[in-house]
This record gives sequence, C-alpha cells and structure tokens, in this order.
Amino acid sequence: MSAARETQDPDIPSILLVEDDPSTRMLTSQRLRRLGYDVHAASNGAEALQLMRQRFFALLLTDWDMPEMDGLALCQAVRKAPLEGYVYIIVLTARGGKESIVQGLQAGADDYLTKPFEDPELAARLNTGRRILNLEQSLRLANSRNHLLSITDALTATYNRRYLMESLPREIECAARCKQSLSVVLCDVDHFKKVNDTHGHQAGDDVLKGFADMLLACTRREFEWVVRYGGEEFLMVLPQTAVQEAMVFAEKIRLQVAAQSFATCAGPMHISASFGVAGHDILEENGQASVDSLIAYADLCLYRSKESGRNRVIGKSLDIGGRTIVMERSSVDSPRRHS
Ligand code: GH3
Ligand code: MG
Ligand code: MG
Ligand code: MG
Repeated sequence: MSAARETQDPDIPSILLVEDDPSTRMLTSQRLRRLGYDVHAASNGAEALQLMRQRFFALLLTDWDMPEMDGLALCQAVRKAPLEGYVYIIVLTARGGKESIVQGLQAGADDYLTKPFEDPELAARLNTGRRILNLEQSLRLANSRNHLLSITDALTATYNRRYLMESLPREIECAARCKQSLSVVLCDVDHFKKVNDTHGHQAGDDVLKGFADMLLACTRREFEWVVRYGGEEFLMVLPQTAVQEAMVFAEKIRLQVAAQSFATCAGPMHISASFGVAGHDILEENGQASVDSLIAYADLCLYRSKESGRNRVIGKSLDIGGRTIVMERSSVDSPRRHS
C-alpha cells in the first residue's frame, strides 16, 4: 500500500475516524473538529483501509466492534501494510476488561479509550500520539540525513566510494536484465599536485569543488551519477549509454574543463583533465560484467590518456564478458592551458 503523505497545512493534523454507528461517528467527528483536527471518517475497517490507500493518515481513531472488518483486524492490517510512516492508533472500546485491552495492544494499537470518554481525555491521548509521531518523524529525518552523509563526499558533494560499491553492481545487474548499454567515465585532474604546491591546499580544494560542480552539472539525466573515486579522480556512471556516446560526453566535458576558469581563494585557475571511458554497448543477462572489470578498463584508458600527453579522452568498448577489448578510440588532443 502506498499513499502520498498529506500536503495540507501541517498545523492542522489529520485524523481518520473509524466508527460504524452513524450518530456516534457524527458526534465524535464534531468533537475532534472542535479539538482542531481535520477529520476523515470511515464506517468500518475495510473502508478505512481503502481511504488509507488514497492518502496517508498518521492518526487513526477506531472503534472496536464493527461489521465487515473490526478495529482489531484493522490494527493488524495497518501494521502489516508498507505505509510511508508510522500510524498512531487509538482503539475506542466499551470493553473495559484488562484482557480486551491487552488484546487491542497486541493487535497493534498504541492506546485505547474506554467509552464513554470526555473531551479532555480524548485531547490528551491524541496529544500523546502527536508527540510520539513528532519523535518518529525527527528520527526518520535524522536517519535519512545520516544515510545521505554516509554516501556523500564531504568536500565535493558527489557520491563516495561506499555508494559506488553499493550501487554499481545494481546498475550492472539492471542493465543486463534489460539488455541495455552502460558506460563509466573516469576522469582525473592533470598535474593537480602543482595546483596544491603552487597555490596551497585550500586553492586545490576550491578547484576540486569547482571541477565536481561542473561534472554534476554535466550529468544530463537523473539516473546518471558522479562519485569521487580518489583525491582528484571522479567516476561518472552513465546507464543506458553506449561507449561511443559516453566518449562524446567525456569529450564535451574535457573541452569545457579546458575552456573554463575555476574560481579559487588564490584567484581564477585553469586546469585540464584526462578521461578513461569503458562500457558495454549491450549487456547480456548471462554475461559476466563486473564492477572490477569496468573500472579496471576505465582506469587503463585513463592511464593511456595520461601517458599519451593528458587532456584527452580514451575509451574502450568491452565485450559481454568484460574481457576483450573490442575497440579503442581516442579524442584529438587540444592545446593545454595551465595556471
Ligand atoms: P597527473 O596529471 O598524473 O594526475 O598528476 P597529479 O599531480 O594530478 O597527480 P598526483 O597523483 O601526483 O597528485 C594528486 C594530488 O592530489 C596529491 C594530493 O595531495 C592531492 N589531493 C588529494 N586529495 C586532495 C584534496 O582533497 N584536496 C587537495 N587540495 N588536494 C588533494
Ligand atoms: Mg461499533
Ligand atoms: Mg591528477
Ligand atoms: Mg589521480
């Protein structure tokens, strides 16, 4: 079950009230509205689940005895459903016995209210629920922030190697399943050590940030991504891209890098970069393409780019098994500029 989180005013909490008796439903709705809630109502568990498929409700106030699907079955169904957030459930019951209460809590309810109940008690129990929901939301936010931090390079805001190792096998598997192409572009700033040595480490950091920003801006589609592979070395992963296309892409970036000046604390700086491209024009499901072979070939091409004068693109198209070099292509060298 997936339902979009409500887009209404967050200051007006929404609640789903489930009650089979029409007059109790109407009266409870009115009481909840007076307490400041945006009330949605259903007459049994099945109808409530139907509504929850259309949108997310973080607060659920449900009667116990109802036809078709009672409150306990609803609690169990909600706890099993893959919802986007936690649902705080309060069961309304005329059964005051301890056994019933335990049964309700075991079914997944967070709290219960014994009928008849007064407004202050209803308000207090709902407030408790909202406190818990707020905690849950902050925890969720902190978790997703931590996850993002754990896969992001702090200096350049590109992905880090941990993300690469998690995600590239998935990309390869996905390309193989769909018989699609996949390429990677490994690029390395030329003579970067000289930038550090001449202008200082901070200026070097500024160049790296500017270079990474440029790579990020060059990714054309949301499924392309950039990783900081080493100090001044970045890997671009290009799903659905054949090697020839990836080389054209890399060549465009190479020209842009050579033409652009990068703002640093020591003034504008000119750099160049070398590129190694490797990929599969079609990946077959039973092929043995691997992260290691893909990166190893890109690295080999990058090495050739460096060896043959830097500021150039060299690429290889790999066969299905990632073993045989089918082609090797190289871009035309262009004048280099250094700061
Ligand atoms: P080549 O053209 O062969 O790639 O030469 P290079 O000087 O770019 O390569 P080399 O491997 O000799 O030097 C890379 C330098 O990058 C050395 C290292 O101190 C620097 N470096 C690595 N990470 C960072 C960083 O985060 N910030 C800064 N400022 N420098 C870094
Ligand atoms: Mg009832
Ligand atoms: Mg370098
Ligand atoms: Mg390097």
